[in-house]
Amino acid sequence: MQPIKSAVSIENVLAQLPEERYTETDRELIQRAYRVAEEAHREQKRHSGEPYIIHCIAVAEILASLKQSPEVIAAGLLHDTVEDTSLTNEDIKREFGESIASLVEGVTKLTHMPRVSRGDQHAEANSASNDNEAEELDAPALLGRKEDMIAETLRKTFIAMGKDVRVMFIKLADRLHNMRTLNFAPEHKRKRVAQQTLEIFAPVASRLGIAQIKWELEDLSFLYLDPEKFKEISEQIAEKRPEREAQIEEIKEKLVKLLADQNIKSEISGRPKHIYSIYRKMQKKNKSFEKLYDIRAVRLVVDDIPSCYSALGFINTTWQPLHGEIDDYISFPKHNFYQSLHTAVIYEDNRPLEIQIRTPEMHVNAEYGAAAHWQYKEGRVSDKHSDKHYEMFISTLRTMADLEAEARDAAEFVESVRNDVFQDRIYVFTPRGDIIDLPAGSTSIDFAYHVHTTVGHRCRGARINSKLASLEQELKTGDHVEILTTKQLDAGPSRDWLNSSLNLVRTQRARGKIKTWFKKQEDSLNLAQGRASLEGELRKLGLFESVNYEKLARGLSFKTPDDLFLAIGKSDLTTYKVIKYIGEEEEKAKQQETESFQVGQATVSATSTDLIEVVGLKGMLTTMAKCCNPMPGEPIAGFVTRGRGVTIHRSDCPNILQNKENERLLKVVWGKQERTSPVPIIIRAYDRPGLVTDISKKISDENINITKVNVHVNNNMANIHLTIEVKSITQLSKVLTLIEKIDNVVKAQRAKPG
Ligand code: MN
Repeated sequence: MQPIKSAVSIENVLAQLPEERYTETDRELIQRAYRVAEEAHREQKRHSGEPYIIHCIAVAEILASLKQSPEVIAAGLLHDTVEDTSLTNEDIKREFGESIASLVEGVTKLTHMPRVSRGDQHAEANSASNDNEAEELDAPALLGRKEDMIAETLRKTFIAMGKDVRVMFIKLADRLHNMRTLNFAPEHKRKRVAQQTLEIFAPVASRLGIAQIKWELEDLSFLYLDPEKFKEISEQIAEKRPEREAQIEEIKEKLVKLLADQNIKSEISGRPKHIYSIYRKMQKKNKSFEKLYDIRAVRLVVDDIPSCYSALGFINTTWQPLHGEIDDYISFPKHNFYQSLHTAVIYEDNRPLEIQIRTPEMHVNAEYGAAAHWQYKEGRVSDKHSDKHYEMFISTLRTMADLEAEARDAAEFVESVRNDVFQDRIYVFTPRGDIIDLPAGSTSIDFAYHVHTTVGHRCRGARINSKLASLEQELKTGDHVEILTTKQLDAGPSRDWLNSSLNLVRTQRARGKIKTWFKKQEDSLNLAQGRASLEGELRKLGLFESVNYEKLARGLSFKTPDDLFLAIGKSDLTTYKVIKYIGEEEEKAKQQETESFQVGQATVSATSTDLIEVVGLKGMLTTMAKCCNPMPGEPIAGFVTRGRGVTIHRSDCPNILQNKENERLLKVVWGKQERTSPVPIIIRAYDRPGLVTDISKKISDENINITKVNVHVNNNMANIHLTIEVKSITQLSKVLTLIEKIDNVVKAQRAKPG
């Protein structure tokens, strides 16, 4: 790749700084930071092939355009030195002092805090990379889900902002330049970096009210994420531009003149539409480009607040205002302190015109947002402490950092940030006079959970401004809220609080805490229920005495029997599956016995579909000996009878042992095919005509033989003793369940032996 020439130089940056604000000493500090950074990065190149220092200068230039203090600009020049060069934070501190060193450290930390959100020791993984342009979060493998990565970055971001918001200005400047040069980054990175910018850095810029940076980050992200749509919209804009600009010129001239007649001095500018915001509006309002772009917008800057309202009054009486389009953000600033009056009218050509009206101070605020509060004037940073908005702003940042500590997992954190932070806020007071910052629409319950989890759980009522209030009452900025709690220490929330139709809880944070409480309660209930239902089933099958829960849980991949019970209680696992597993294990055990028996006995292996394979004599008629009743799996031997085929005895049957040398003795083994065992069962039922028929039909439908039936009826209660031939525990379980479903049957279970 050919190195590109860049016009960026430190001289340009210095020339851009207003004489009256930045002293000679300020300029020297910036120069010195430049020399140190330049030397440290000297051997390094960007993806573009440019010397690395160009990036540092570009970052400093963006910070200069935000009119930041010389310390911040110097820190901007140095922002990658600790990260990517041999310089340490100690070096920076020695050379430039505590304040600059801590800014650089903040930016470094923002890039390289541990990348794994949950208790993983792989902190600082991948930090060896010496080229961090748009490299943050390059370890997705460690974090796994994308949501986790976003959460982790947001977390870092908010913590950094809460500590010193100027770190965020540097980070945004860094990201902005990386986005401006993203076309030089390797292709596979571009989309990912753009996505992250759109999900994290643009919202942060918006939250900080830095409109300029927000727009540019959004449009650049959009360019890489959806190049075709981007091209389509920008071409449409270009096509319309000449006509539109002519119109705007005409409107501007007319407005200035009309306002001057009213003694209102104004400066008017057309408002550029941003590609991504047009796209978003097209999506949201489901409108075509034509429809949206048709709306012209101008911005009026007038001398003072009274002039804003006079201008608004004049405009709204000259043209027909559109219903619901008048907003007074002067009396009610947006959460990021944005102030202006908004109106939309039907202009002379019968088409809509949007107008924003503001003072020069409001204009600076709208463009620079939080950065305006830190602007550098005549050798000092503006007097931020007199600013009420500033206090609230800082409180918001604190909340964002707190959110992280409360969130149960990363995804929930992202959710809570999206729902709770990037929305309008209200500010209410605790009884002690502390300000609590909540999303607009919050209720006393949200407030209670915000104060403390146990206050939330024990909340039973609220006093708002000293008056008893219902829990669903929406809080307003300035309300004094006192929560009434029950004394009962283990009290919990009400189910109703989660009922979304009642709308008692509005914040994700409170909702999460309530859910957690119920989940804990449910877990213990589910565990008990799961245990009871498994025990019941095992009793029914006569397996209760012999079951080993520890072994069973492990076999089914649960850590403990409790986990197994919980899974059954929560219906994640059915008792049928557990029984099936027990059956299969039993089969396996039998199989092994049979196999070892075969190894010891067989000389020739015959295949047969018969119950019993008679070694060497295929397809012989066999009967079970009545003397010893051999069970499948037991060692057996065959005795050739006259006219009745082969009788199968247990190999330890006295009749066999007596005839050991007899030539009529055969080696036989159990076949591998399904075989059945007789199992006695007991059925209790209220007697009725046809009951036994129904039961036997149900059993034979399952292809199961009944070998013995015995019915006792006593006081209308029938005790039916059956012996059925089943292949497995699973089959037994199934048939017992089917029998229990027959009308009048109370219980069906395996008979206890003996
Ligand atoms: Mn950088």
